[in-house]
Amino acid sequence: MTDHPSQTPLFTFGVIADIQYADIDDGYNYTRSHRRYYRNSLQLLSKAQRSWSESAVKPHFILQLGDIIDGFNKRDGASEKALDSVLRELSRCPVEVHHVWGNHEFYNFSRSQLLRSQLNSTPRTGSSLAGPPAPADFYAYHFSPFPGFTFVVLDAYDVSLLGREVSSEQYSNAMDRIKQYNSNEDLNCPPGVVGLETRFTMFNGGFSKDQLDWLDSVLSLADEKRERVTIVSHLPIHPNSTTPMCLAWNFDELLSIIHSHNSVVCYMAGHDHDGGYCKDEDTGVHHLTLEGVIETPPDSNAFGTVSVYKDRMVLKGNGRIRNRVFLFA
Ligand SMILES: [Zn+2]
Repeated sequence: MTDHPSQTPLFTFGVIADIQYADIDDGYNYTRSHRRYYRNSLQLLSKAQRSWSESAVKPHFILQLGDIIDGFNKRDGASEKALDSVLRELSRCPVEVHHVWGNHEFYNFSRSQLLRSQLNSTPRTGSSLAGPPAPADFYAYHFSPFPGFTFVVLDAYDVSLLGREVSSEQYSNAMDRIKQYNSNEDLNCPPGVVGLETRFTMFNGGFSKDQLDWLDSVLSLADEKRERVTIVSHLPIHPNSTTPMCLAWNFDELLSIIHSHNSVVCYMAGHDHDGGYCKDEDTGVHHLTLEGVIETPPDSNAFGTVSVYKDRMVLKGNGRIRNRVFLFA
């Protein structure tokens, strides 16, 4: 692995996913195969924050890839308190945080509450790319931390049973979509098939046509300006970067938009706590799924620092996250 230690990066940023903090005792995931360290996840976030704060080259920003607090907080009436705790910890690191929304955000808060909360990082955007802002109906934006580099935050629960009013057209459309594949009474149970269709569960979602059209126009401008674009969202979209049960419902439509542009270099997601990675051989796009903090033992960790160079990004992983180099195609 070459990581050009002598070269100074153009800029660096931190990444962390699925903190899922709750002030409750350890538990297990749905299939009881993985332990969840609800309370300790705040300590791991604290260690990540200290590492970023104390590093010689400070990150320009942090990407928080969603599920910042766990859905159990809602049951306990502790959503606001838990959110305050994680945001207080993150704010000790004096850099801006870009928040992605995952399923656990919607277990705790309504979409309108999220828009009014500190988890809405839209106002912090500034971009060298012109073009229309995203319509208000979904949570997506782009920002440019350094000339020539654009980051796009996408809303993977735009088409979903989560975060949409039961009486809304969006909800009925999402219900029609999921029912085509999933006939279970509990829609959190994956359909009884193997393979890609197991993604049609209530804890996943997808991207609306409006959002995909908006992304398409952002990427067209980025192509023209020869920008390097990194897309971030909560749900993985490449079948080789995750277990199929964690894929976005219409991952294929997003992949085909990415294929039709040459500006995208990387796609980052969370949601699948085991993490994953693949390079799309057709496009050279790197698909990274970050290991989740919530299923990381107290003596380990799960965060990364990415150094960006003209021709590559170098991920320095901590704990469960391994080092990787993403060469630009
Ligand atoms: Zn999730």
